[in-house]
Amino acid sequence: MDVTRRSFAFFGATALGSVAMGGRAFADAPSSIQGVLVQDAGAACRVTLALDRPAQARTFFLAEPSRFVIDVANAHLAMPGGASGQGPGAGVVRRFRYAPQADGVSRIVLDLNGPASLVRQEVGGRRNAALTFDIAASGPFTAEPAPVPMQRPGRQQTRRTIVVDAGHGGRDPGAIGVNGTREKDVVLHCALELRDALEQRGYHVALTRDADNFVELEDRVRFARGQHADLFISVHADASPNAATTGASVYTLSDRGEARAQNMISSQNWDLDLGNARESTTRDILVDLTQRETTNRSAQFAQVVIPKLGEVAPLVRNTHRNAGLFVLLAPDVPAVLIETGFLSNATDERRLADPRARERMAGAMARAVDEYFTPPGLYAAAD
Ligand SMILES: [Zn+2]
Repeated sequence: MDVTRRSFAFFGATALGSVAMGGRAFADAPSSIQGVLVQDAGAACRVTLALDRPAQARTFFLAEPSRFVIDVANAHLAMPGGASGQGPGAGVVRRFRYAPQADGVSRIVLDLNGPASLVRQEVGGRRNAALTFDIAASGPFTAEPAPVPMQRPGRQQTRRTIVVDAGHGGRDPGAIGVNGTREKDVVLHCALELRDALEQRGYHVALTRDADNFVELEDRVRFARGQHADLFISVHADASPNAATTGASVYTLSDRGEARAQNMISSQNWDLDLGNARESTTRDILVDLTQRETTNRSAQFAQVVIPKLGEVAPLVRNTHRNAGLFVLLAPDVPAVLIETGFLSNATDERRLADPRARERMAGAMARAVDEYFTPPGLYAAAD
């Protein structure tokens, strides 16, 4: 995205500048902030607030640590994550936090990786009521890793639902080992072990198959969405023409897969829970946000599960891979596909056929689920 090529009203706010709120704003019906999107646009970072009607904002910077604060007047936060929470940043924006303030003000705080300035602010019109801020770093900065994902509101007291998907099954044996071990069998046993380990930890677990059945890929994804799963774990075993290749690996959705998921949303009438976003621009932004958050969460689970797997099994080098694998395509369910090892390698095949080794792998996955859902300690967006 080239921010210089587009010409919008420029409000000329500087490092410590601010934009006055209009006096009329409070008299109007409140607007709802339905999404916040942070995009790295090269020279600047673009922050877009998706709104259902035009709103006025006051902005200011805070130092040590560097923050940029957006106060939206006469607005409430109707984010997919609730009225307060946090989300991932990009570029100079490390992350954003949001919470309601007094007098009907909704506050969005951007935690910055270093000093920055506001180079452009755009106020949308009636047809697309977005507020857009372009923020440029004042100097070089070091990007810190994004924090653990926010919790979904309303789910904190209820049990988390994990959908465990044993790959293949029935007439689809999957990979066949050098000594005849079938992927569909070892992954089913591993999935059942994982179910037991997760249920012991208090999770609600649903399996896409618990026997030697053939299940369409599409039905697996639909099942996960129908369960309102908090996490989808697909268990597979790999095969390679190179018999020396060994180890486990973890796949999450790639950029190309994301495009495929977007197509599926339109072609299969997947209703995303986007509140009542009627305007198509807002809807597009919210679909994008949902997809982005899901991809981030999937990657975060991958980062947690990889070292845990490494404690009990060898890992493929560069073990976190991105792929457009079909079972990963649900736009609103964080999903990983775990290749537990290579059946084409005799040592891996022996390990995958060993019930105790499978139990250790399932235990490692369950510990990763615990770590992933550990409450991150949300910040209130006070300043
Ligand atoms: Zn497979």
